[in-house]
Amino acid sequence: MNIRNLGSKLNTNQAALILSEENRLYFTGFPSSNGTLVVTPESGVFITDSRYIEAAENAVTEVPVRLQGQLYQQVFDLLQESGCTEILVEAERMTLKELNTWRKMLPTYSFNVSTRLDDLANEFRQQKCEEEVEQLQKAQDIAEAALTELLPLIKPGVAERDLANELEFRMRRLGAEGISFDSIVVTGENSSKPHGVPGEKLVETGDFVTIDFGAIYGHYHSDCTRTFAVGQPSEEMVNVYETVLKAQLTGLSAIRAGISGKSLDNAARQVIVDAGYGEFFGHSTGHGVGVEIHEHPYAGPKSEDTLSLNSVVTCEPGIYLPGKFGVRIEDTVLVTEDGYRNFCHLTKDLIVL
Ligand code: ZN
Ligand code: ZN
Repeated sequence: MNIRNLGSKLNTNQAALILSEENRLYFTGFPSSNGTLVVTPESGVFITDSRYIEAAENAVTEVPVRLQGQLYQQVFDLLQESGCTEILVEAERMTLKELNTWRKMLPTYSFNVSTRLDDLANEFRQQKCEEEVEQLQKAQDIAEAALTELLPLIKPGVAERDLANELEFRMRRLGAEGISFDSIVVTGENSSKPHGVPGEKLVETGDFVTIDFGAIYGHYHSDCTRTFAVGQPSEEMVNVYETVLKAQLTGLSAIRAGISGKSLDNAARQVIVDAGYGEFFGHSTGHGVGVEIHEHPYAGPKSEDTLSLNSVVTCEPGIYLPGKFGVRIEDTVLVTEDGYRNFCHLTKDLIVL
């Protein structure tokens, strides 16, 4: 229904030209590196090359699927038939080169380069339907099962990189189509880098291990972070962990349909500021998750987004003490009328491995 829903939002003289991989995937439900989706108020077409045509013909049901030939002519013919005069483009995602080419090849059409089409796509993508929620839950379930398998392997002497590889292998073996992003497995001093890259560093007794990871299932991503202690943590480590946990729970309790991304951020951030660690929490509190790992709604100090009903958002405050250690705790949740439903079911009590 995604394509028809978009069509219904267009003026009678408008057509939408969707070239970006993520929006094509969202609207058609079909992943491909090549494709052109044109949506008109009444119809549309999905054009792709020979590598994808057979699979696309089976997967894309809302609009006719055509083998790519003279692409611009094919689009021109459809627009002629539909009587459209204006083409909405993805201003946030189209390159200038692409725009110039399309303008040159379809000189009689006017191109709407406002963010109207992006705004529509972002709005649709934010509101998850039941099927999308199921895929998001399945992705998280796979990731959690993989992490549970990984825990016994986390011990002194094991390299971060090996743990990351083990985790990713296990997610795939448990049914993931892919991984949401390169898994972050950082230990000890490395854990103070929010997006550190797992390397040769070996786990040592007294380290924190932060693992930020996700699986892809049915084209939908999961995103979750947990921090574990290897051996007895110091008093400072426990204090920082408890502060981050309190911030995370406070952020979560602020979530409900209609609040701004900014107020979610503020709720979590204030706990960290009050504890005296404000300068050590540099990133945003959350982001949306869907066919992309980062999408609307965003929850940061400058966000202008609202957490709408059935949107999906992460809550992931952290404290990072350079040269010492870092802690981040992240859940991904579905925003409901009066709260949220958590996709993540892993405990947030500090586990000492
Ligand atoms: Zn994450
Ligand atoms: Zn995240």
